[in-house]
Amino acid sequence: MHVVTLIPGDGIGPEITKAVTDIFAAAQVPVQWEEQNAGQTTFDQSGELIPNALLKSLEKNKVALKGPITTPVGKGFRSINVTLRQKYDLYQNVRPSRTTPGIKTRYEGIDLVLFRENTEGLYSGLEMWDERLGIADAVARVTVEGSRKICRAAFAYAAKHGRKKVTLAHKANIIKMAGTLMINACKEASLEFPEIVFEDKIIDNMCMQLVGKPEQFDVIVTTNLFGDLLSDLCAGLVGGLGVVAGANIGDNMAIFEAVHGSAPDIAGQGKANPTALLRSAIMMLHHIGEHAKAEQIDKALEATLMNQEECTGDLGGKASTSQFAQSIIAKL
Ligand code: NAD
Repeated sequence: MHVVTLIPGDGIGPEITKAVTDIFAAAQVPVQWEEQNAGQTTFDQSGELIPNALLKSLEKNKVALKGPITTPVGKGFRSINVTLRQKYDLYQNVRPSRTTPGIKTRYEGIDLVLFRENTEGLYSGLEMWDERLGIADAVARVTVEGSRKICRAAFAYAAKHGRKKVTLAHKANIIKMAGTLMINACKEASLEFPEIVFEDKIIDNMCMQLVGKPEQFDVIVTTNLFGDLLSDLCAGLVGGLGVVAGANIGDNMAIFEAVHGSAPDIAGQGKANPTALLRSAIMMLHHIGEHAKAEQIDKALEATLMNQEECTGDLGGKASTSQFAQSIIAKL
């Protein structure tokens, strides 16, 4: 039995988390959930944003499944996601995007994995506001060590999973110093993995290429902000935010979470698609070595996605979150 920390989160978080835990229970997955919440809802209830009990649970279990957490825009508390990623050095944000039979999209044949640096760059939290001069600075801190770690992780993943190419997306033509660190780190990693083709593209061109001919990409590595933007773009290519998984991985801990946010516009209405969180949970099962259970659930999910009637509204269906989960359970 694996003990896993479960963070339901805010907004649609509890609804999609319930769908996933119901499916896990029906599939008799040997996972025991240890529920500890964080975020806006927790704060409203207890006055704590990240309770100590959650941190203790994470430090003990080293694996977590997390729902989305609301972060106020422009003011208020610092992102809990960013805080956890930095506190536990979860430097890899891994986001696979692939076309799925049954999900209608403009493209075919997409199967790419994005490696977003997860602790540095413009998310370092180094912001200064000079009211007198009317100047706001946001520092994009990139380190040699951080660049090496994420670039090597992308190449190592490519080698382990039989991938052919790693593409670095950067803006080193303008952000010369910080941008060059990632180029150097990728060149260094590519020497270690000579069988993997390495190419680099400037981020603006990368966006155009991704919407024009996404099937040309395999593994993509990039800095924090570019990765955040590209991962939503990639989600849009393969069916939207409701279907794309994600993982925050460090050397000692991993937190699996959907790419999307707390979707306040549909929260509490039973409309949320739990696929993204379920796929993140499937990634988690592979991470803890439960490959057979991961494949069993994945097959039931793929079969359900083939039938639009059984899907949620974002995929053109009419099913509620829990009806969708029941359809998956019926196919286990
Ligand atoms: P969002 O991802 O919550 O929603 C964007 C759009 O996608 C909305 O129309 C929403 O209804 C739809 N959507 C998202 N997930 C869906 C799902 N599972 N099924 C069906 N439709 C889905 O992005 P936002 O509105 O920009 O952000 C809302 C809040 O979430 C913000 O506070 C933001 O900071 C936070 N956020 C959290 C995370 C995280 O916890 N990892 C990630 C992104 C955003």
